[in-house]
Amino acid sequence: MAHEKIPYKIYLSEEEMPKTWYNVRADMKNKPAPLLNPATFEPMGFEDLRPVFCDELIRQELDNDTREIPIPTEIRDFYKMYRPAPLVRAYCLEEKLQTPAKIYYKFEGNNTSGSHKLNSAIAQAYYAKMQGLTGVTTETGAGQWGTALSMACAYLGLDCKVFMVKVSYEQKPFRREVMRTYGASVTPSPSMETAVGRKILAEHPGTGGSLGCAISEAVEVATSTPGYRYVLGSVLNQVLLHQSIIGCETKIALDKYGVVPDIIIGCAGGGSNLGGLISPFMGEKLRGERDYRFIAVEPASCPSLTRGRFAYDFCDTGMVCPLAKMYTLGSSFIPSANHAGGLRYHGMSSVLSQLYHDGYMEAVAVEQTKVFEAAEQFARVEGILPAPESSHAIRVAIDEALKCKETGEEKTIVFGLTGTGYFDMLAYEKFHNGEMQDFIPSDAQLEESFAKLPKVPGCDA
Ligand SMILES: *Cc1c(COP(=O)(O)O)cnc(C)c1O
Repeated sequence: MAHEKIPYKIYLSEEEMPKTWYNVRADMKNKPAPLLNPATFEPMGFEDLRPVFCDELIRQELDNDTREIPIPTEIRDFYKMYRPAPLVRAYCLEEKLQTPAKIYYKFEGNNTSGSHKLNSAIAQAYYAKMQGLTGVTTETGAGQWGTALSMACAYLGLDCKVFMVKVSYEQKPFRREVMRTYGASVTPSPSMETAVGRKILAEHPGTGGSLGCAISEAVEVATSTPGYRYVLGSVLNQVLLHQSIIGCETKIALDKYGVVPDIIIGCAGGGSNLGGLISPFMGEKLRGERDYRFIAVEPASCPSLTRGRFAYDFCDTGMVCPLAKMYTLGSSFIPSANHAGGLRYHGMSSVLSQLYHDGYMEAVAVEQTKVFEAAEQFARVEGILPAPESSHAIRVAIDEALKCKETGEEKTIVFGLTGTGYFDMLAYEKFHNGEMQDFIPSDAQLEESFAKLPKVPGCDA
């Protein structure tokens, strides 16, 4: 290893940091399908979306053509506080696995939110502030998104109202207190504060809530409070655009050392971190300049890409949001208890869905006990305690590296390590005690949910 010139951590100087986000839609021949109005099935235009989202973010959402979008100076300055994120050469893991593969990971856990979500939170809060708005609302499940948004709003002096799925609110009191430290108001959902919350509580007293229900409450408050808008932490085109900072930094760092990856791997919840990581590489593939293998990793308990339908569906269970065309398990699908809360979403980014549909990307589903085995193996050699979500990518990176060991191939593998798992120690405890179970939905369960997909004229799934 003495001749190796590549350092354990590749950093970029502030000058080398990307000045633009990369919009992969510009290079897609088949553009992602537009959001539809759920009542009329007409594509949602700028004016239709204005009551919900702030103006500049709508422009970004609808822009399928501009390849490079400048990152405003204020956002770049905020990024400099916790970025560039290191690209780490996993020498220690390679050694442990005795693999000829070269493994790199992009670590996004170096901020208090513990994940990549701050990259889009600061952008969304910034555009809301620039428009003169006074506050934003959102939902959070596991809590990473709510934390990231609270941090961004505290920095910019915006009100932040978070509807947190009630079970998480009760099970993760420390997450809640982090958000309150940053000045957010955190309400367990369903709540009595909204009409939709009161309706759900009347129908299901004692419910622990769901992400879909929290979205419906957050949207209601945003659209009925002057000066407020709603923001979302994944799935949307704009979020994927902001998260392209991950991939742009990774590409600049690899280019510095002339490293070309063979395989790029990421976990996929709503698809924004994976989409962001692969964007500039996918651009090269779409333009026919280079070939890469891209692998999306999802939980076997919530397998949108590997077992879902490519169809128009609601983004929320309350069915108040626009319809998006995506790989979906159906908005009525309730994933069984899985400890990677950030991956328990029924749908998937329209951009990634289209790319997957067109054969540019692969997907695999993995079971959570196998994920935690990989998490522990990684923690013990690389010194980072990974989030359960991120560990899905670790699992597949290790599997690919072990294949290289058998074939003797020296492949270069890059994966996204989206965050740290300090708030997930109850899950680690279950794993250590041998109490963790794997849940795989039956075909019948999925069919039941597919049957409730909205019927959109001319778009039979
Ligand atoms: C939210 C989250 C994810 C899922 O991200 P998507 O961009 O929605 O796929 C993955 N890892 C961590 C640590 C998260 O917080």
